[in-house]
Amino acid sequence: MTVLDHRAIASDRGEGVRAEGMQSEDAAGAAGAAGAAGAAGAVGAPDAADGAGARTRSLLARTLISATGTWTRPFVPAVPGAADFTGEQFHTASYPGADALRGRRVMVVGGGASAVQFLGEIAPVADTLWVTRRPPQWRDGGEIEGLAAVTEVERRAVLGEAPRSVVAATGLVLREQEQAARALGAYDHPLPMFERLVPEGARWADGRVERVDVILWATGFRPATQHLAPLRLRSPRGGIALRRVPGNVQGATTAAVDERIQLVGYGPSASTIGASRAARQAARAVAALVRASADAR
Ligand SMILES: Cc1cc2nc3c(=O)[nH]c(=O)nc-3n(C[C@H](O)[C@H](O)[C@H](O)COP(=O)(O)OP(=O)(O)OC[C@H]3O[C@@H](n4cnc5c(N)ncnc54)[C@H](O)[C@@H]3O)c2cc1C
Repeated sequence: MTVLDHRAIASDRGEGVRAEGMQSEDAAGAAGAAGAAGAAGAVGAPDAADGAGARTRSLLARTLISATGTWTRPFVPAVPGAADFTGEQFHTASYPGADALRGRRVMVVGGGASAVQFLGEIAPVADTLWVTRRPPQWRDGGEIEGLAAVTEVERRAVLGEAPRSVVAATGLVLREQEQAARALGAYDHPLPMFERLVPEGARWADGRVERVDVILWATGFRPATQHLAPLRLRSPRGGIALRRVPGNVQGATTAAVDERIQLVGYGPSASTIGASRAARQAARAVAALVRASADAR
């Protein structure tokens, strides 16, 4: 019988291994409650304590399902002067709500749906300024072509390219909730990216300075896949290449370089609907793998 665990998987590639994200949690809790890893055919779980006293545990498994999302990896770009700014800064992940920003001058950074929706909430109660790297990509009404958008994300994932922000595939639209902010002109004159932050706000290359009390970074998230780093799944293009499943654009879950690893909620399945469809596909892939290893015995 072939039994593979994290260490065995990585030692195939000539290195020692651990699943980094699991280190400080009880392994059963992490694998079950947090949904970080699904182990099919777990056959052993020795306990150990590392030098810092954190409990670690090894699970032997034939396959691994990683469903770690993006929420734990908020992304804030590195900008010159970031440490100089004396006001408050929030990210989408720590957004305190419109009431906390009432009456203040808020600079919203980002060109995606989060920035648009924050402005919709904040503009009626605060003075807002919108900064985007590129001009906002507005969509001309109508329903979003969901299949086309996901197909584009799948195409990139199959090539092993790093996931891009969703807005690149969907474009932006103003909903009923954003009409009050639109009437106030909150979306009318987005500014390009500033050159640097200064104590009182931001400064642009042409010398313009805007004073702000708060910066709200609506700059997105990155896939939480650091725990997989020892497995060397990453392609030279920066992402984890997935195998295409014909006729199921959200079903690409299997790592192209190692069929034992499934990623759910990554790439084309990084949406509520996509993740549930991908979960079904990942379960099928795991079942096929476990059956194949049983047949080989
Ligand atoms: C701000 C924001 C808005 C979004 N809005 C929408 C929307 O409107 N519609 C939509 O369809 N999708 C939306 N998404 C996409 C969203 O990612 C999916 O809808 C869905 O929540 C993903 O589910 P998931 O189970 O894959 O990931 P998550 O819900 O993020 O769950 C991942 C879990 O894994 C845990 N975890 C992470 N790393 C580790 C680790 N190393 N070890 C152990 N556990 C770990 C996390 O703590 C978490 O419990 C949004 C995402 C963001 C960030």
